Amino acid sequence: MKRKHLCKIVATLGPASSDKETIAALFKSGVDTFRLNFSHGTHEDHKKRYDLIREVEQETGRPIAVLMDLQGPKLRVGRFAEGSAELKTGATFRLDMKDELGDATRATLPHKEIFDAIEAGTDLLLDDGRIRLRVRSVKGTEAETEVVVGGVLSNNKGVNVPGVVLPLSALTEKDLKDMEFGLELGCDWCALSFVQRPEDVMEARKLVNGRAGVMAKLEKPSAIEQLEAIVALTDAVMVARGDLGVELPPENVPVLQKRIIRMCREHGKPVIVATQMLETMVTSPTPTRAEASDVATAVYDGADAVMLSAESASGAYPLEAVSMMNRIIETIEQDPLYLKLIHADELEPNPTEADAISDAASQVADLLGAKAIVTFTTTGSTAFRAARCRPKTPLLGLTPDLRVARRMSLIWGVHSVNTRDVSSFAEMVGKSTRIARREGFCENGDKVVVTAGIPFGTPGSTNNLRIATVGQHEKTDRNEA
Ligand code: PGA
Ligand code: MN
Repeated sequence: MKRKHLCKIVATLGPASSDKETIAALFKSGVDTFRLNFSHGTHEDHKKRYDLIREVEQETGRPIAVLMDLQGPKLRVGRFAEGSAELKTGATFRLDMKDELGDATRATLPHKEIFDAIEAGTDLLLDDGRIRLRVRSVKGTEAETEVVVGGVLSNNKGVNVPGVVLPLSALTEKDLKDMEFGLELGCDWCALSFVQRPEDVMEARKLVNGRAGVMAKLEKPSAIEQLEAIVALTDAVMVARGDLGVELPPENVPVLQKRIIRMCREHGKPVIVATQMLETMVTSPTPTRAEASDVATAVYDGADAVMLSAESASGAYPLEAVSMMNRIIETIEQDPLYLKLIHADELEPNPTEADAISDAASQVADLLGAKAIVTFTTTGSTAFRAARCRPKTPLLGLTPDLRVARRMSLIWGVHSVNTRDVSSFAEMVGKSTRIARREGFCENGDKVVVTAGIPFGTPGSTNNLRIATVGQHEKTDRNEA
């Protein structure tokens, strides 16, 4: 199965999308990466979803990435007796640490750090800033607040305390347990919430230890202050606009989105634009024009992926949301302006062999009208560098490592294929052309450009470029996979 879109789709799974039929349909409609949100649900829920994703992967024969998203030191209210409660503007609302279900008069806020840091006059923002509470008084772990802006508050919604620095570490006890569980399951990407410093990424890298790609979610002003150091250290980035737009004024978010995408592209790190992309579709079968335009902007900016959260996890129209996102991406990518805009701001290649080859491959393919650039990669790094150029020619990433194949399905434009290993360059060229043809990218007589690192298996050693004609190099390939 060959996708038309270059910008990838990440969809969060949740109660609205946990049966096999729905997961298979979401995949078919365009999802490349499924997100398991560890802020919600039990390990058992996530394992069930994970296993179903792998069944779909098995049945379709296409590598699928699973992104585990750790809650991080996200502050959240507890649960409600009725699942939610309406907080009326002007009413009094209590926050405490009691182990009881909440209602319209109180909720549990299981974070002692907040009670230590807030005082009369502090504002608390709930549910992505939709609800505002102003503290009247604090006694120990009980706070009396006034509902300044009311609304319906449901289970485990987020709490932000803008402007108040809370002494919290990047990975909570829960995160450490979730991380081990998710890595044990086989998740391909591990996202860290509320990264504040480069050290947070380093700490996670040590723990993940190569078992997954590490993704830094940028949602704190302090992370923006050290953006370049964080991007350099992480394997991928998420522009987590939900919390970012609560911690900072919303008008700053589009500026940062562009800056972050640009920085990630420069470093060759995949970047996802996330949150509220088609928010209306949680309850409506169609998005607003502004939402369609928002997805389009991320695509025009050259993001590697766009993401659905509640739209696919708990909304009434998960399938429609994915199809809509897919249609928007495909439409934008057919606009002749699209590639022009993406290339308007040319990125300088690094003075490395990998970049020299990737850049050359893109130009050679363009000049010769090659039907595909096939990169053979053992760690994925060649594909990351190739995608960094945003070539006009379709990109295939071939790898003998299934985990790498899965991870690559998040990268812009990469059609990832898990193959058997090869022992010679000639064999690799034969395999590359056969697979490109089998996957529907070309026919006999077409040209493809093949890149790889020799010796095989040395990360970052991309140093070979071959122009191959499909159908002419295949005798040596007896080991088709
Ligand atoms: P969340 O992260 O959905 O886990 O909060 C994304 C965001 O904050 O935008
Ligand atoms: Mn967030």
